[in-house]
Amino acid sequence: KVIEGEALRKKMHNTILELKGNIRVFCRVRPYLLDDDAENETKTVSFPTTTEAIGRGIEVVQHGQTHPFMFDKVFTPQSSQEEVFVEISQLVQSALDGYKVCVFAYGQTGSGKTHTMMGTPGSYDDKGIIPRSLEQIFEARQKLKDQGWKYEMQVSMLEIYNETIRDLLSSNKSCSTDSGNKQQYAIKHDPNGNTHVSDLTIVDVRSSKEVSFLLNRAAQSRSVGKTQMNEQSSRSHFVFTLRISGVNETMEQQVHGVLNLIDLAGSERLSKSGSTGDRLKETQAINKSLSSLSDVIFALAKKEEHIPFRNSKLTYLLQPCLGGDSKTLMVVNVSPAPSSVNESLCSLRFAARVNACEISIPRRQTSMRYLEPRLSYG
Ligand code: ADP
Ligand code: MG
Repeated sequence: KVIEGEALRKKMHNTILELKGNIRVFCRVRPYLLDDDAENETKTVSFPTTTEAIGRGIEVVQHGQTHPFMFDKVFTPQSSQEEVFVEISQLVQSALDGYKVCVFAYGQTGSGKTHTMMGTPGSYDDKGIIPRSLEQIFEARQKLKDQGWKYEMQVSMLEIYNETIRDLLSSNKSCSTDSGNKQQYAIKHDPNGNTHVSDLTIVDVRSSKEVSFLLNRAAQSRSVGKTQMNEQSSRSHFVFTLRISGVNETMEQQVHGVLNLIDLAGSERLSKSGSTGDRLKETQAINKSLSSLSDVIFALAKKEEHIPFRNSKLTYLLQPCLGGDSKTLMVVNVSPAPSSVNESLCSLRFAARVNACEISIPRRQTSMRYLEPRLSYG
């Protein structure tokens, strides 16, 4: 009987892997901050301690009702940037092997998306996924050199605001998001799966230092937009793209990988931002592109025939890097503050929808998927 159970468990696990494809969902809860309503002692977020849920389960209490969720990995407020990166480094590494990779940070404004992706500049321990990924990639490149590999890397950084692309590395200092020139930043995909965005600045880079310099430039460009356009940075998607081309002449091999690291616009809903006019348009554009993103990932996970890539700029831009044998990771950021409990639940529900297992496996069998400790990439 035990063997039967074990065999069934293995079979279920393989089915789950097949169903999930290369999509993983992590959740990260940030610590309490001074600005949070900390005097309110009610705990809204907790982490189940049953063995199969450790490190993967999260529970949210709202109006006395407990809502449990399970993801590929859950990071608690105590989890360090390093602990988060350890779980992601393999995925980052696969871009050097020729995979197309997307890592998204999702969550309401203030939930820790930028902390997760960028971290606090200047502080080593607080470095986020983007700087750590770059360090790892350039370090690995050095090692692969000894095995005859020559890599070329190119970086671009853009922002999507109100369904309009803005080049963050452009030397043109103009801040207008759309000069009325509809052909600017037109997105084209060639048959080899390469994406071309017309007029977008692409920079050859040789070290992680060079990329840091560009990241600072992009951050400055973003904050200029911020004062002029209503805190644009939390209202826009930030897309960092590293294109990697490797050639090994002795082995007669070449690889082309892409690493996309994306800090999404705040997911807070319409009511909370009290939207009217431009703000309303903004919020609707964000809602539309975030729901398009979940529609696309959902459709990919279900292996549907039609994937609605064209419903938003973001999904259309990333089309070649989503689906196929590319790899996608969604990090859903959550605030533990009681005042954020509604938004946190919304974010977790979004994540649960993206986490294909929640819907693909017949209800009676869902508990099976918790048994495997960690699904590995590749
Ligand atoms: P978002 O980008 O989602 O709007 P931020 O990343 O700017 O949110 O985070 C909001 C605040 O919380 C910032 O002051 C940030 O430094 C802090 N913060 C977020 N996550 C963490 C964390 N894991 N540890 C410590 N501070 C954090
Ligand atoms: Mg942010």
